[in-house]
Formats: sequence, C-alpha cells, structure tokens
Amino acid sequence: MNMNKDIILTGDRTTGQLHLGHYVGSLRSRVQLQNEYKTYILLADIQALTTHYDQPELIADSVHQVTLDYLAVGIDPNKATLFIQSMIPEIAELTVIFSMFITVNNLRHNPTIKNEARDRGYTDLYYGFLGYPVSQAADIAFCKATLVPAGEDQIPHIETARKLVRRFNELYAPVLPEPRILTGERLGGLDGIGKMSKSMGNAISLNARPDDVHAKLTKAKTDPARIHRSDPGNPNICPVFAYHQLFRNENAEEIHANCSQGTIGCRDCKQLAGNAINELLAPFRARRQDYEQREDEVKEILIEGTRQARKVARETMLEVREAMGIRYFNL
Ligand code: SF4
Repeated sequence: MNMNKDIILTGDRTTGQLHLGHYVGSLRSRVQLQNEYKTYILLADIQALTTHYDQPELIADSVHQVTLDYLAVGIDPNKATLFIQSMIPEIAELTVIFSMFITVNNLRHNPTIKNEARDRGYTDLYYGFLGYPVSQAADIAFCKATLVPAGEDQIPHIETARKLVRRFNELYAPVLPEPRILTGERLGGLDGIGKMSKSMGNAISLNARPDDVHAKLTKAKTDPARIHRSDPGNPNICPVFAYHQLFRNENAEEIHANCSQGTIGCRDCKQLAGNAINELLAPFRARRQDYEQREDEVKEILIEGTRQARKVARETMLEVREAMGIRYFNL
C-alpha cells in the first residue's frame, strides 16, 4: 500500500441493510480501493439520526447489519478501517467549527438536501438535517481524506466539504486537504422510476434470499408497451435490462436483441436476471453467515477500527486547534 497516495473516506448511514444500489454505486469499488489506499469506512449512525432520530434501536441494530454487509461483500478489516461515527467525538467538534463558515441559505440551496426534504415531505427542516453536509465535511476532514467514493447525489455535499476545508485553510493554516469525489454507477430501482432506494421500497437487499430476489423481480416494472410475449420491447427503458447489463453483461446483447424482437418473455427475462443476481450474492451470503457465527470477532473489528480512527481524529484536532490558536493546554 502506497501511503503517499490518496486517503479514502467512505461509508453509509446506518438506517437498515444495504442493497444492490449500494453495491453498484460504491461497495464494489471500495473492495478494490482498499487494496491500494488507506481506507476509512464510516458507519454513520449520527447522520442516521437526521432522519431516524426517533428510532435509535433501528440505528443501533443497523450498525451491526451494515458491518455484516461490508464484511460480506469483501471489505477486509485488515485493509480498511471500519469505525462508528458517534464514537469519535472529534468529528462532532469539527462539525461545530465548520458550521461557523457556512450560511443557512447555502445549505438550504443544496439540491440533495432540497430533494430529500421534498421526498420526505418535510415542510420545515431540522437543524441537524440541514447541517448534514457540514457533518459530512467533518467526517472527511478528520482523517484528511482526499478521495470520497460516493453516489452522484453526494456531489453537492462534497462540494460543500471542499469549500469548508478551503475556508478553514485560508483563515488559519493549510492543515486540511481538499477532497475529490469518485462517483460510482447509479442503479435504477425495481419500480423503474428512481434510483434503487430502501425508502422507496424498490430495492433488493444484499442479504435477500434467492427466492426473495426472484419474487422482487417478478414485480419489477418492464417496458409497458409489451403486452404480449411477441410484442417488440425497448430494453433501454426497462430496469431489468439494466440488471442484465450490470450483473451478466456477457448475455446483455442477446437479451437486448430478444427483447427488441419480441422473442423472449418478460417472465423468462426476469428469471435470468434473478439468476445472475443470485450468482453475485451467493458468496456474500456465505461470508455473511460465517461472520454471523462470530459475533465477538465482528465486535472486535469495530472496536479496533474505531480505536484507530479516534487516534487519527485526536491528532487532527490538535492540529486544527493549533492552527486556530485555541490549543490552550493538554488535558
Ligand atoms: S424482455 Fe426483459 S428487458 Fe425486455 S421489457 Fe421484458 S423484462 Fe425488460
């Protein structure tokens, strides 16, 4: 591992199990990146509170479930540092400092915040919800991350992080690096409307059983113009075809031709897509089951990762305080 290269910070809000959209958007690239870069993976339980503050038990359970998801897809705790956000108080400290350099209007105009508030039907915004990008900037800055693998919807947040870091460096001293985003692919949901998302109910969980995968696909939207099996279809507007492309690309051309010519039925096409997804998920299920038998080891992975992240956070905050002239004494 070349320690002079980028430092990666990535992670997920712990609001439930991860799904195929997470895998395509970010998890699979993390599995590659961990071999090459120092990688921090954040279990964002504080950011889960921004929308689930009234369900703390769900958040705590999700920390465990998401950790299992990470290990299942191949995140290696000997290569990547897995840690729990709320156990690093320095992140909260840095969030407060960053919050001095950004206006409420700037946050209100963040398109991702606006879209999520609209989707959730929020008529007024909680302070924590509005401040999500500030908290994310602190996640990135505490470990001096330079590269953030994330979905496209995170671009405005990373832009905010870049601005906050730049402002800090201009005001005090050049202590914090400016991060870049590494965007992953976007996976459409089963409803054919938006991206795959747990809250939209259009997702296939990474932990789904083989039958569940097929059952979910049975209900997936297809080209609505196809009424009869022999009707020519347009695979380019069908979410199932996107799954073929992503999960069994070698057959995608044939599926495209068969759909366009009306020589394959949607039911058969979905069966093939389900088989491809199940092939992908099979080793994840096996690894997950294995880790489920070793609860103590999973806990130890989180303790050790959080300990390492905390050490780095303390060092960064000393530099931050030094730069700001508020490092009064050591306690
Ligand atoms: S045949 Fe396949 S790609 Fe074509 S519309 Fe049906 S499910 Fe979609």
